[in-house]
Amino acid sequence: MKVLVIGSGGREHVLTWKIAQSPKVDKIYCAPGNGGMAKIAECVDLSVEDIDGCVKFAREKGIDLTVVGPEVPLVMGMTDAFEKEGMRVFGPNAKCAEFEGSKAFTKDFLLRHNIPTAAYKEYTDLNEIMKDIGVYGFPMVIKADGLAAGKGVLIVENEQEAKDGINMIMADHEFGAAGDKVVVEEFLTGREASMLCFVDGNVIVPMESAQDYKRAYDNDEGLNTGGMGTYSPNVLFDNAVLNKRIEETILTPIIEGFKADGMDFKGILFIGLMIENDMPKVLEFNVRFGDPEAQSVLMRMDSDLVDIMEACIDGKLADCDIKWKDEAAVTVVLASGGYPGPYEKGLEITGIEDVEGCEVFHAGTALKDGRLVTAGGRVLCVSALGEDREAARAKVYSQVDKIKFDGARYRTDIAKMD
Ligand code: AMP
Repeated sequence: MKVLVIGSGGREHVLTWKIAQSPKVDKIYCAPGNGGMAKIAECVDLSVEDIDGCVKFAREKGIDLTVVGPEVPLVMGMTDAFEKEGMRVFGPNAKCAEFEGSKAFTKDFLLRHNIPTAAYKEYTDLNEIMKDIGVYGFPMVIKADGLAAGKGVLIVENEQEAKDGINMIMADHEFGAAGDKVVVEEFLTGREASMLCFVDGNVIVPMESAQDYKRAYDNDEGLNTGGMGTYSPNVLFDNAVLNKRIEETILTPIIEGFKADGMDFKGILFIGLMIENDMPKVLEFNVRFGDPEAQSVLMRMDSDLVDIMEACIDGKLADCDIKWKDEAAVTVVLASGGYPGPYEKGLEITGIEDVEGCEVFHAGTALKDGRLVTAGGRVLCVSALGEDREAARAKVYSQVDKIKFDGARYRTDIAKMD
């Protein structure tokens, strides 16, 4: 098989790494890929938003399976474009990708199907929302409806902050058209967790659980980031009552809801949850693997990912016996100094070849004149398996300092035992 992976982050590197292990696969192309993916695949200079270019490339090369990593091309309809040409593609179509493309769309779906979630109201008019400030009290949760690269959610403490935030989104158009509609939600408390699931249009199958660390600094201090580390499995899900509730009140109604609404959802559904007193509520849906959840979860997968992706496309997921390793996995992100604020790019990276017993997934790297350099905020992910979480954690932290670039920074408390 020839496989094309769309994307250039850590998520796409681990996907490529896992796909490369399939005995069915002879050749992998990545569009555009990164410095790490280039070692196991052929990188092609095509943007993830160049749908026509990617379709044309896949047709010319006779690609058997295209895997779309990031949300932007999914929301833009990359899957539909491949399907129209009769080519096999893994990732939801544009209609289903609306779950990530519009928060109001997801909230409407959740409420109509009686899936527990925070109460909400949606607004397209600045005056209307200004009149409603504090409608659910404070803290007030304000969300730009559309894609905002993970930055479109504001949690404000008082009226002035609410006014400033709303003006930023709706009047100053900080997130462009993503802020033409705004969702205001009731503030939920509890512990956050996420679930990654495979969906084939008929069934929804959760993967092994992971815990992520969103804040920039140790002890959950600093700004939110794309994610500074993960571990799997997540101890939070060692809870039969919670798991049963998730199954009955969330997973089953979701798949039934997809069917009732005529949505042929095939691909990955990432469900963000808030859990309090063993009661789970849905915070959000994403329509692709989380990054860096994918790194820890796929390290533990003991089945052929290509088989599972093909089963999703063919609606045969129920026949798949997805196997997982008993070992735990830990992933630590090495970030550029300054991230998630401004940071320098193009800094030389050394030492990766000295790392032992871990996988190093590239997130924001590029090859410049044959040298590996930084090219993003999250630069590399170091992942390891161990017989338990502590062992996996020890492995990662024994190696991470071998990798060097100016300003390199990581959290030291990923997967630390509570
Ligand atoms: P979202 O992208 O919608 O998941 O929001 C990003 C983050 O904002 C979540 O991971 C939560 O930490 C927080 N958040 C979102 N919605 C709520 C809510 N209704 N109550 C409390 N926190 C929330």
